[in-house]
Amino acid sequence: MQNKAPGKDISFDDLKEKIPLCAKKSINHKTIVKVKNISFGGKEIPFLSGPNTVESPELINGIGKMLKSLKLKGMRGGAFKPLTFPYRSKKYFEPGMQGLQWLKKAKDKNDLVVTTEIMELKYLEAVCKATDIIQIGSRNMQNFPLLTECAKTKMPIMLKRHYGSSLRDWLGAAEYILAEGNKNLILCERGVSVPHTHRSTSRFLLDLQVIPAVKEITHLPIISDPSHATFWAPWVEPMTLASIAAGCDGILMEVHPDPKNAAVDPLQPLNYSQFRKLINKSKKIAKCINRKIV
Ligand code: PEP
Ligand code: MN
Repeated sequence: MQNKAPGKDISFDDLKEKIPLCAKKSINHKTIVKVKNISFGGKEIPFLSGPNTVESPELINGIGKMLKSLKLKGMRGGAFKPLTFPYRSKKYFEPGMQGLQWLKKAKDKNDLVVTTEIMELKYLEAVCKATDIIQIGSRNMQNFPLLTECAKTKMPIMLKRHYGSSLRDWLGAAEYILAEGNKNLILCERGVSVPHTHRSTSRFLLDLQVIPAVKEITHLPIISDPSHATFWAPWVEPMTLASIAAGCDGILMEVHPDPKNAAVDPLQPLNYSQFRKLINKSKKIAKCINRKIV
């Protein structure tokens, strides 16, 4: 048998020795991660949509209401934010603990499953109480003590790929979570940054090919985040549709009622009307491959 799986940076020896818990045991081995009334890795393709930042109770509840009206079941929203630069615009303040409460209220009121990013262990209990899926952000992908403690809670975890990470290193981080006996793991591709390829056109490059690669070698569900990958709202629709066609098990999506006034990353959220159109198109693509947007 060849030592290196074609087209991947991970060898068959790696699969057996380094990532035994991530690796598929047989060709049809698949894990479906169920979170309340939705699931990742089966027929459903959940959208986890919402603002970058939980700016106010009105904002997050308004988005929750809009999602419910479209019969969607998942929401996102950041309370603790890893911002690239330390200087904050006048509009921005970190919502923190109160943001978690706003998120929880909006989720309960609109019957949604919610994810939020954790940055520091001291907030772990609060994040677990207020939300349903712990989001590990790109920048913390290899913060192993954080991964281990989050895994021990047995809460569902969404592990975003670092934008400079190989598939091998990403799955190594995933293995830390599975090694704690937490099987509720969802991977999230959010764009990579590769020198000398795409940088004249975009900050990140959505690695669509990693979706079939993850499915070929692991049993884990993988979702796609076209908002952070493109960093640019006009490209979010094509990259979402392409992700669904490529076989992703969910979408993480930024949506905001007034994108140009979003407190963080105003170039990437869709407005409500763009979002509605995207959901309609996504349903059509999903139907072609016998899947369902929820
Ligand atoms: C986010 O989802 O809000 C986020 C900060 O994403 P990433 O960690 O992928 O940059
Ligand atoms: Mn963001």
